[in-house]
Amino acid sequence: MGNSLESQVALVTGASRGIGKAIALDLAKEGAFVYVNYSSNADAANKVVEEIKANGGNAKAIGFKVQDKDAVENAINQIKDEQGKIDILINNAGISRDDLIIRAKDEDWQSTMDVNLTGAFYVSRAVSKVMLKSKYGRIVNISSIVGQMGNIGQSAYSASKAGLIGFSKTLARELASKNITVNVVTPGFIETDMTNELNDKVKESCLNNIPLKRFAKPNEVANAVSFFAKPSAGYITGQVLSVSGGLCI
Ligand code: NAP
Repeated sequence: MGNSLESQVALVTGASRGIGKAIALDLAKEGAFVYVNYSSNADAANKVVEEIKANGGNAKAIGFKVQDKDAVENAINQIKDEQGKIDILINNAGISRDDLIIRAKDEDWQSTMDVNLTGAFYVSRAVSKVMLKSKYGRIVNISSIVGQMGNIGQSAYSASKAGLIGFSKTLARELASKNITVNVVTPGFIETDMTNELNDKVKESCLNNIPLKRFAKPNEVANAVSFFAKPSAGYITGQVLSVSGGLCI
């Protein structure tokens, strides 16, 4: 079985920055044509596309909000028309709206669920139909270590990320007979815009709990995602791999 992603088509949601960007760069380096999804930051997404092309790869930016069902359907139809297939889907787009439960706002709960969970549902449903036709697919969902462990101040975020794990295990069972695998990566503390917002006290307390005593770079998550995305990972499905420096052992 070949292990290159040459002639494969990948869609990475939320790929204009952070972990999604690192995943897009890595999949392109392995040979895939990568659709670089963004929500509002078209310039950043176009820069990712330029970087991929400068490295000899191929990519295209595609803007849509994952929680906008019609926009998702249109985007997946566009990719299908342009490429005829989608081999790899990485549901990476995500937001966090954190507060203690007693202060948690309805709108923060709802927007977190809309993007992190409903968004992954809309994109997965549309892409699954394309993958089922070609009887091949690799879906990797980016959850979070807090979906397994919980975290003070992150009730909505951790609920959405735990939901994503249950969702993925069900998809893995539903799609397995058509050679489509579905796996989950749960990052710990990764240095991106999302974690840059935290104050030094919170960062220090996180660091104290990480056995490897450091935060991770986005490419360390991308490495695990690419493993699941390759043809050679075809006998692994419904699994959860933590990239967290041993935070959850
Ligand atoms: P980030 O730096 O905040 O980047 C978020 C990315 O998602 C951006 O590309 C953004 O696009 C896109 N996005 C946001 N809302 C979207 C929407 N509604 N539709 C489509 N795209 C949307 O985030 P990150 O830290 O790289 O996190 C990536 C994923 O890893 C998330 O699911 C996050 O929950 C998860 N994660 C992160 C960490 C961590 O420590 N960083 C830990 C565990 C899990 P624009 O640029 O257009 O806004």
